[in-house]
Amino acid sequence: MSRNEPPVNWTGGVEPECPCPSSHDKLQEAHYFIHEMVDKYHQPDEFRFSLSAFLQASRSVTLFLQVEAAASPAVRQWYERTAQPQLATDADLKILNSLRVQTVHRAALAVNSHATIGYYRYGMCRLTLPMVQMAPDTDGFTALIMARMLVDGLPLANPQRVWSGEEIGVDRQWVLEELPGREITKVCIDTLEKLRRVIFDAHEAHSGLHFEFPTGGCAHGRGGYTVLRESELFPEISRAWEAESPDRLVAGRNGLKFLAGPSPASPVWHELAPGQHADGWVGPRSTQWGSGYSSALLRSIGRKLVERRTAVFFETQAAQVSPGRRRRKR
Ligand SMILES: [Zn+2]
Ligand SMILES: [Zn+2]
Repeated sequence: MSRNEPPVNWTGGVEPECPCPSSHDKLQEAHYFIHEMVDKYHQPDEFRFSLSAFLQASRSVTLFLQVEAAASPAVRQWYERTAQPQLATDADLKILNSLRVQTVHRAALAVNSHATIGYYRYGMCRLTLPMVQMAPDTDGFTALIMARMLVDGLPLANPQRVWSGEEIGVDRQWVLEELPGREITKVCIDTLEKLRRVIFDAHEAHSGLHFEFPTGGCAHGRGGYTVLRESELFPEISRAWEAESPDRLVAGRNGLKFLAGPSPASPVWHELAPGQHADGWVGPRSTQWGSGYSSALLRSIGRKLVERRTAVFFETQAAQVSPGRRRRKR
């Protein structure tokens, strides 16, 4: 899905007589935090904070509803006969609520994650490698760099990504011990849908009217958020697809090192003597890693085609870059 799309508003519009304004508002809040989870899916801390906030808000929907239902005899009857028994016996709601209680007392949720590295073409996974366990604090950027290192030299993606739309991606699954085998965001989205139905029914019990909850087009239901692909972080990949002529990098007077990651401690993959040149596609400035380093996809060093370790970083100051002409593939 495209990230950062705002949630569809379920409280806006004309609603003359809401039987449960507080629970309705909390439903909107829970919906907002689903979008936060989706947007921050590849940033472990932010994801965890958003999950915690979703659990709080979703529990508040039912707590407020219990209070608000009491104000109207019709809604109260519906709540006691229909809603409460349903909510009380829902296994997922029970588990999520017990998690919420824990998060109040504990510093962190015990979120686990594992990931699958895949070869993608036009956004679709074509081939996957065996699943790897991933430390819960590994962010998406680091996971993608690790994935590139692991697939280097395998006959998977072309080293220069010459096939339009081809790239490496990481599909990550956040799973809680209490809900084995199920991606937690999906469980939360299903829970939101259950709560949305309950609030819808509350409106109906109150006035017989169907309050409109437009759910059709909302971005959170589209999926795809578990995957992070190279082109999302490294625009130089799309430049290679477009067959733009590469940039020329000339090593400065201290030489030029091409590294596996954007830090001096990263493994050195290629090294150029002062004045030596390389050709490749250099990425734009990014906030994903510390300033001072640029990313690139190498094509050649001198006249020699680079066949391995083509996805690199280098100290921006150490190279003089002359941009290649931006031309389009015919
Ligand atoms: Zn949504
Ligand atoms: Zn309402």
